Amino acid sequence: MGRSALEITARGVVQGVGFRPFVHRIAVRCGLAGWVANTPGTVVLHVEGPAAALSRFRALFSSELPPAARVTRFRVRKVRPTGEKGFAIRPSLREGIALSTIPPDIATCQECLAELAEPENRRHRYPFTNCTNCGPRFTIVASLPYDRDRTSMAPFPMCRTCRKEYEDPLDRRFHAEPVACPACGPRLFVRAPDGARVAAPDPVETAAAALLSGTIVAIRGLGGFQLACDATNEDAVRLLRDRKRREEKPFAVMFPDLESVRAAARITKADEAILLAPEAPILLAPSRPSSALAPAVSMGLRTVGAFLPYTPLHRLLAERAGRPLVMTSGNVTDEPIAIGNEEALSRLREIADLFLLHDREVLQRSDDSVVRRVGSRIYPLRRARGFVPAPVALPRAFPDVVGLGGELKATFCFVKGDASYLSQHLGDLEQPPVREFYEEAYRFFREFLDARLSAACRDLHPAYFTTTFAERSGADRIFALQHHKAHVYSVLAETGFSGKAVAVAFDGTGYGEDGAIWGGEFFTVEGMEVTRAGHLVYFPLPGGDAAVREPWRTALSLLRETFGREEAEGMAGRLFPGIPPGSVRLLLDGLEKQINVVPTSSAGRLFDAASAISGLCPRASFEGQAPMRLEGAVSRTSRGTYPFTLSGENGELTVHWKEIVAGLASDAMRRVPAGTIARRFHDTLGEAILSAASRLAETSGARHAILSGGVFQNATLLSSVLSGLRKRRLTPLIHRLVPANDGGISLGQAYYAALRVAGG
Ligand SMILES: [Zn+2]
Ligand SMILES: [Zn+2]
Ligand SMILES: [Zn+2]
Repeated sequence: MGRSALEITARGVVQGVGFRPFVHRIAVRCGLAGWVANTPGTVVLHVEGPAAALSRFRALFSSELPPAARVTRFRVRKVRPTGEKGFAIRPSLREGIALSTIPPDIATCQECLAELAEPENRRHRYPFTNCTNCGPRFTIVASLPYDRDRTSMAPFPMCRTCRKEYEDPLDRRFHAEPVACPACGPRLFVRAPDGARVAAPDPVETAAAALLSGTIVAIRGLGGFQLACDATNEDAVRLLRDRKRREEKPFAVMFPDLESVRAAARITKADEAILLAPEAPILLAPSRPSSALAPAVSMGLRTVGAFLPYTPLHRLLAERAGRPLVMTSGNVTDEPIAIGNEEALSRLREIADLFLLHDREVLQRSDDSVVRRVGSRIYPLRRARGFVPAPVALPRAFPDVVGLGGELKATFCFVKGDASYLSQHLGDLEQPPVREFYEEAYRFFREFLDARLSAACRDLHPAYFTTTFAERSGADRIFALQHHKAHVYSVLAETGFSGKAVAVAFDGTGYGEDGAIWGGEFFTVEGMEVTRAGHLVYFPLPGGDAAVREPWRTALSLLRETFGREEAEGMAGRLFPGIPPGSVRLLLDGLEKQINVVPTSSAGRLFDAASAISGLCPRASFEGQAPMRLEGAVSRTSRGTYPFTLSGENGELTVHWKEIVAGLASDAMRRVPAGTIARRFHDTLGEAILSAASRLAETSGARHAILSGGVFQNATLLSSVLSGLRKRRLTPLIHRLVPANDGGISLGQAYYAALRVAGG
């Protein structure tokens, strides 16, 4: 009987996710001999036996892959049989210890959930139950290699029963580093805001009762603290807004089960798959008007950020509460989330009425991730818990480089070999505590990737935190890449596309190569070079934070450009009744004298202006509120677009917006419903993008169109552009692994630096 052998290498998220026991199990089932071993970032296995058994093995290998495993590279090679007897799990090869061996945190698996519910099980209702298929990973790591001793499970020596499970290759807990049980693992306890211990024989019960009575509970979660309250209790939600100083930004909601999500949001089968995935992200979905959620949860936006319990603790709490709970990050607005017990007690004392704590430290701070669904797949908005530090595969290997990110929604990204490692979402670097968090996370990634940096790449902006940080990045060579080009490169990196393409970066604001503020940009891509090929016509942007917080300012500037000062002033009186005429005049004076005014082509600001003119959002309480309100208002029934023109000068295509502004203003002055205006504006911008992109594609011969930038978080705009591109026989390339917003630009910067260094 002929015996053949295969060597299989799998890369990606393949360690700490039950991969080796899985291989062992299916090899034994197929009657094959051989071995499996971990090397940094890779699992290598050797199987030998009859050809039929080998092909059965290959079939099982793909159909029964552990749920949390993410294979990005897979190679099968025929090798000479070596006469192996039996099947062995070989010790890991420890050399070249790398961050790549740490998987992201994984939501509780079905088997552990079943144990949680079994009264006879020794882990019945134990809030720290986990196995090789699920549990904390990245958030409990102190140093490498990834062993229990170097995680925050070190202070909890395994009991004999846990040790037996841990050492048995056939057990679901074989080498599950955080394995624990009530006899040996972490414990819950409850404290009052003054730190006093609260007697609580069943801490989950106590916390659930507090939530149901309308109070706010701080919970030590997986990546840090969360603040929770009853999502169906308007007073409780308002109280939380008040204390957290979060006026209107929507809160995420944890639902006890899929059934309750369906009652509050319109979700499809694909949405359900996203909610149930091992990453367990927050999914933004359209809300149902009949939902039981308190209005203060979403503050008028027609979406809900829903997620399912992803740890046993969350599961028990959701079950006991029996209703949706607001779960928002445990911080005062704009600060990083608290992770330590004492830290939380001091920082969140004024916010929470009760603290549900435990004694397992959170070592890597990680917010919840947020995604949308586009088509049948994930479209990331914030990449953190559940995704980090899983690598984004690159099309080939490169020298070590780093991309330092932007200023808002900051991340950084290291390239190592043919993989790139993005940090978790860090926050807005204007805040000093976020800068500290950035530096800490940077040191951790750099050390554990053992990065020998050939280059770093930063944004072109002269005053970003990362611009000065670049000097301390540890790289010899520093590149600066224009913000929107970085957005484009991030799509190139994650899709591996090389060839001719047109690219659209519709965004908030980014420093331009000509010193203006860019943000409504068209590019051509060829031979991995990205060249600006068009943009929205510049308009004067009243400077400073005020423009972001007060969209009426941008609107007034556009009205003045379109109609002249006098008419604009008259319109402002009708369109922005809440704005004092004195403020209107002051701004018009400033625009005239060009005081604190910069030219911009920002598409994001154009959305702000449309939202203000339509009456939906003259003032915003958080970044992104104006466009979110505009999208939320879009009428499903009305149609019609505003006129716009494209023109080409000096080889650059420009999109003129004066007719768009005139159309908006005329509708708004005639009191056309805001939903109709919102619809028309979205359709107009979609048309403008499609016309410009197809014109550029015609000239350059491109068959692909790249879409990136924060404006493409807008699902209404994105889906109409996607279908329009397909109609024009242009293949769209969009983000699937990193956000289209500034959370994704570090990948683009890193890829750009990698290409430059590799190219000499
Ligand atoms: Zn499990
Ligand atoms: Zn134990
Ligand atoms: Zn941007």
